[in-house]
Amino acid sequence: MSVTRDIPARVKLFDTHCHLDLPELAVAQALHWQQAQQAGVAALVIPAVQQSAWQKLLTLRTQQAHWHIALGIHPWWASEHSLDAVAVLDKLVTAHSSTIAAVGEIGLDFALAEHSFAMQQQLFTAQLALAKQHNKPVILHHLKSQPQLLAELKRQQFSSGGILHAFSGSQQQAMAFVDLGFKLGIGGTITYERAEKTRKTVQKLPLESFVLETDAPAMPLAGFQGEINTPAQLALVFETFCQLRPEPREQIAEMLWQNSLNALRLSAA
Ligand SMILES: [Zn+2]
Repeated sequence: MSVTRDIPARVKLFDTHCHLDLPELAVAQALHWQQAQQAGVAALVIPAVQQSAWQKLLTLRTQQAHWHIALGIHPWWASEHSLDAVAVLDKLVTAHSSTIAAVGEIGLDFALAEHSFAMQQQLFTAQLALAKQHNKPVILHHLKSQPQLLAELKRQQFSSGGILHAFSGSQQQAMAFVDLGFKLGIGGTITYERAEKTRKTVQKLPLESFVLETDAPAMPLAGFQGEINTPAQLALVFETFCQLRPEPREQIAEMLWQNSLNALRLSAA
């Protein structure tokens, strides 16, 4: 008796947002990567969250052929930086242009305390200008800030694209970013039945609009609340994504892989 027919064909997945350098995952980094590969993850992106991570990520990139990196300052860490950090980032992107896939994780988070907003805005504006100048895509963090992000992207006439990380929202909100050349990063959110609006958006937009991500160690999937999220969980995000789409599973995997390469301007991963 053969059971092979019931085992889904192996696909190649790209985790476009995984904080493998953060302490929760770094303690067992090699193990997480091994388990991710066993689950079908063939490449990933590690977006920096603060300046102190940049050198470490540049070194990691030279050691791991399938780990891509983005350098930037995440809005949660904005108050610990000044604009001097953006000058340092500019030097690094100039010196290591081919090593750095994108500028990120940058953005605006208006769920944070209001006293952080001014610095968040300054750092986001400066980092977006830097990305534009170097023609690099960006990895965008958003929370209660989609209109403000869109306004700044338009004001700077930003055309290097990138990924709107952890997308949640309506078809109309999604299209505003897709029209500016962005892919929508879809993660564990879609595994929650209550995320109706986002799940509908995944059903309605062209497949070209999406990439997958885990945001590990954050954003645990439904059924895994309270646990540390890992890149191996991307396989479950993918299966949920496939349930929402009409295309065959292999075609979806192939398209998502291409979308990831396109968003990050990679010829191979
Ligand atoms: Zn992140």
